[in-house]
Amino acid sequence: MKEHLLDVRDLRVSFDTYAGEVQAVRGISFHLDLGETLAIVGESGCGKSVSMQTMMRLLPMPPARLKSGEILFEGKDLALLTDKEMEDYRGKEFAMIFQDSMTSLNPTMRVGNQMCEGIMRHQKVSKEEAKKIAIDMLAQVGIPNPEAAFRHYPHTMSGGQRQRVMIAMALSCNPKILIADEPTTALDVTMQAQILDIMNKLKKTYDTAIILITHDLGVVAQMADRIAVMYAGEIMEAGSAREIFYQPSHPYTWGLLGAMPNMIQDVKSELYTIPGTPPDLYAPPVGCPFAARCEYAMEACLKEEPPKFVTDGGHVSRCWLHDERAPEVTPPAGIPALKKGVKVDE
Ligand code: SF4
Repeated sequence: MKEHLLDVRDLRVSFDTYAGEVQAVRGISFHLDLGETLAIVGESGCGKSVSMQTMMRLLPMPPARLKSGEILFEGKDLALLTDKEMEDYRGKEFAMIFQDSMTSLNPTMRVGNQMCEGIMRHQKVSKEEAKKIAIDMLAQVGIPNPEAAFRHYPHTMSGGQRQRVMIAMALSCNPKILIADEPTTALDVTMQAQILDIMNKLKKTYDTAIILITHDLGVVAQMADRIAVMYAGEIMEAGSAREIFYQPSHPYTWGLLGAMPNMIQDVKSELYTIPGTPPDLYAPPVGCPFAARCEYAMEACLKEEPPKFVTDGGHVSRCWLHDERAPEVTPPAGIPALKKGVKVDE
């Protein structure tokens, strides 16, 4: 079997609180190879950021708790590493950029010094060499006059420039995996397009693998090779970007796509929203977690959690409608007929 760069298997993460256990991530599996972009999409609170922060060991434990799962990076299980050992991976093999660059950068340090810290630690180079690498990266992400920017404090830069600095910092040690958590949410559309363009170019130049966390399907369409749709701590559908956009197979994905504004929509018509709210993860429902919001829900959906069904190649959907015994349903307008699938043993 081919070894993936990253292979996450059955990851489960909970938070222990006074009110009880919150089951934030409930058994997700995915893989990633060099040079590809995996987008993880879903509503706020679906567990996408918690999964990534667990991988990077950024969550305070407790209250967070890794209940089970393997996080195999080049075959080595990161879940078994000590915090000290993990420091050698974070920044060097994995880097992360966040939505809010203002709180992610240290406001008391010049951006150049912040970049040099990581470069010197992971690349074992002198301060002068680190400075050269940092200025070169600032130039590559399109910061005008990178020598001057090297000496700036974060608060003197615009939001778009700070986000470029974050990308430069993340890529300055040439990591194999870049995790971008809502990297463009706080930016205007022009800046958003520029940042996505930079990420795509750098990915091609360095063959970096990207995990993109977002709820913005427009961003996903521009960036992703593969997509995983998360809901209530689980992956409900996964496949290539083409499969998810042109043959979406799960009612939750249909809802997400239906909620996207489009250019030909009548300005007076109301934008579609998925009715209801996600389930309480203190006590996740028996059966399908989407059942309370799903207009196609059947009796089986309330009694038993749907297994994974493969409908095409690597296209996987966790919905009882793919079962041979399920009735035929009519998907929303513009979405092709649903295919029956083959149940996958987990
Ligand atoms: Fe809807 Fe049932 Fe499919 Fe869940 S399993 S998405 S409730 S049809």
